[in-house]
Amino acid sequence: MKIVRYAVDGTAEYGLLKDKTIQAIVGKPYGELNLTDRHYQRHQVRLMAPCEPTKIIAMGLNYHTHARELGMPLPNSPLTFLKPSTAVIGSGENIVYPSASHRVDYEGELAVIIKKPAWRVRVEDALDYVFGYACFNDVTARDLQNTDAQWTRAKGFDTFAAIGPWIETDLNPDNLSLETYLNGKLKQRGNTSDLIYSIPEIINFISNVMSLLPGDIIATGTPSGVGPMYPGDTVEVRIPAVGTLRNFVIANGD
Ligand code: MG
Repeated sequence: MKIVRYAVDGTAEYGLLKDKTIQAIVGKPYGELNLTDRHYQRHQVRLMAPCEPTKIIAMGLNYHTHARELGMPLPNSPLTFLKPSTAVIGSGENIVYPSASHRVDYEGELAVIIKKPAWRVRVEDALDYVFGYACFNDVTARDLQNTDAQWTRAKGFDTFAAIGPWIETDLNPDNLSLETYLNGKLKQRGNTSDLIYSIPEIINFISNVMSLLPGDIIATGTPSGVGPMYPGDTVEVRIPAVGTLRNFVIANGD
């Protein structure tokens, strides 16, 4: 099923998307769905980011092709970093180019959304903790990533964690094609079969460090082909089995 979050009449709520119709849900979608009899057409509502994470854990260098492209050795263990929850935006929203950066890159990725509290989860149990999957853009100020010892600033600006357009819950994540388009032009093409660390291995690794909570996002890394975006650009991350995440780059107003 497809789970959306949207704004209607000034409030945000979750819903179940079927074709072009959304059925509203009471509360959060992670347990049993509490469906209402309220229905909306998709065009009647404004889609938002489909989850409200307490944190985003992202993987660095998790595709063989991307490691080769950067000329970097494969990591000996999963390389993780955090993005703040305040960076989250949904499909159709604007990525704001910060005035501190002159090189902002797209990184198309598969996002994993957590279903239930996860602490020290075994690899063989890990997929039981997954609610579903979405497209993700790990927007990165590449120049600041290269100058700062820590990646907090380069990865953490508001609007630098685009996710959507919804969460697809019925999906095998092992062999998903993923593409990134800039102004309609193909820039990245990868497949999750090229992941260095699998999704169960990632969940096992992270949950031995920190508790994962419902709605938390794991960004699983980007394939080769990363590159810059500029104000005026439209960027899309397409995972055909999920949908298309589309965002617009705008200049910082200050
Ligand atoms: Mg990334």
